[in-house]
Amino acid sequence: MVIRSKTLRLVILISTVLMAIIIGLQLYWLQKVYRYEEKQFNINVSKSIRGLYDDMELVNDVSDNVQKVVENPKPDLYLLRIDCSPYLDSLWLNLKAELTDFDVYTDCEASIYSHEKNAYIQEQYIDLPDAYHAPKEKSNNPLLQRDYSYIALYFPHRGEYILKQMYFWMASSGILLLVLTAFGASIFYLYRQKFLNETQKDFVNNFTHEFKTPLAVIKIAAEVLRQPHIEEKPEKFKSYATIVDEQATHLQGQIQRLLEIAYTDSKKVPLEKEDFDVNELLTQAITSLHPVIEQKNAQIKTVFLSNPVMVHADKYYLQLTFINLIENAIKYAPQPQIEISTAVEGKYCIINIKDNGIGIDKSHQKKIFDPFFRVTHGDIHTVKGFGLGLNFVKKVMDAHAAKIEVHSEPGKGSTFTIRMATI
Ligand code: ADP
Repeated sequence: MVIRSKTLRLVILISTVLMAIIIGLQLYWLQKVYRYEEKQFNINVSKSIRGLYDDMELVNDVSDNVQKVVENPKPDLYLLRIDCSPYLDSLWLNLKAELTDFDVYTDCEASIYSHEKNAYIQEQYIDLPDAYHAPKEKSNNPLLQRDYSYIALYFPHRGEYILKQMYFWMASSGILLLVLTAFGASIFYLYRQKFLNETQKDFVNNFTHEFKTPLAVIKIAAEVLRQPHIEEKPEKFKSYATIVDEQATHLQGQIQRLLEIAYTDSKKVPLEKEDFDVNELLTQAITSLHPVIEQKNAQIKTVFLSNPVMVHADKYYLQLTFINLIENAIKYAPQPQIEISTAVEGKYCIINIKDNGIGIDKSHQKKIFDPFFRVTHGDIHTVKGFGLGLNFVKKVMDAHAAKIEVHSEPGKGSTFTIRMATI
């Protein structure tokens, strides 16, 4: 389990890093394409402007380099110097023709600025064939003061137009990311499925082992009982019959617990709540565990509040919860020394079950409440169990709106803390 969960984490980590790299690269490329499209737009507009200067006499010195007479103060604004007032109708027609010739298919607000009046004296909205925006009611074309007259070409939808040119790239990036995500999700799903299958296999192993020993003992006892003339040794007869009875009871108990634990759903735990003293219930739980305590020679110290700690809860389920936790404390300690204490903090009662056992590694502390999860140390059968006890405990706690936490240090021991409302 340790190795598997580590591999799973590694797989997730690697896929996340890969996804991040791919997303980063995609964003880098999209940004590059955007810059390219921006440059392309600028080139096309510049070519159209050069065409316009060629078509019409706008400046005195025609030999002047176009770069010298055009200013580009903002990416979406071009100022074309003019020395004389052009004939307007042909200016707009030529401008439109040049822009379309050089594939600038976005709308343009053209205005003529007069240096003498320091204002726009003419404005024209040039709607190009592919322009997809309704003209704005009021022009956004900012007025820039210059000591010469100029034609201002303002492209209000330049950004959108460039993005539109990139639709193909954006769509292909989106599809690639989608495919990658789906791919990653299916790998994760398959791996999780495999993980669950193996966990269940562990469970079946544990299950088989748990039932094999008592059945073997019953079989041996039955063979002894079938010996001829056994009835002549009543003592032997009785002791073997007792073994059969004990083992059968043990098996019955295990099956009952297993069914109860495996099929309990926290939302469906049929609670029958009553008022009782937690101290008393803990004492009962310890008493019912006497055979195990004696077998392991466990030392149990109780530090109970002197006053009764009253709660309103399901006595039976809480009893099973305590039994599970105390049994674990005994099971997972070579020489168990357990301290069980109760306290009250405000409206809550705190129950601590502290052991000096093998402890639980930090990376497993959250998972121990998952169904079938067992920490294994090489040989999975060193300590018997199904990995369902703590899951059951968690379900009971959830049904009571109570909390359970674990603090543990490998090699030193664990403390399970329950926090539930008092009355
Ligand atoms: P199990 O039947 O295996 O005891 P649980 O659900 O009760 O199942 O516990 C899950 C796992 O948590 C155990 O297999 C064990 O590895 C770990 N664990 C539980 N309680 C303790 C404890 N007190 N000390 C150390 N490990 C524990």
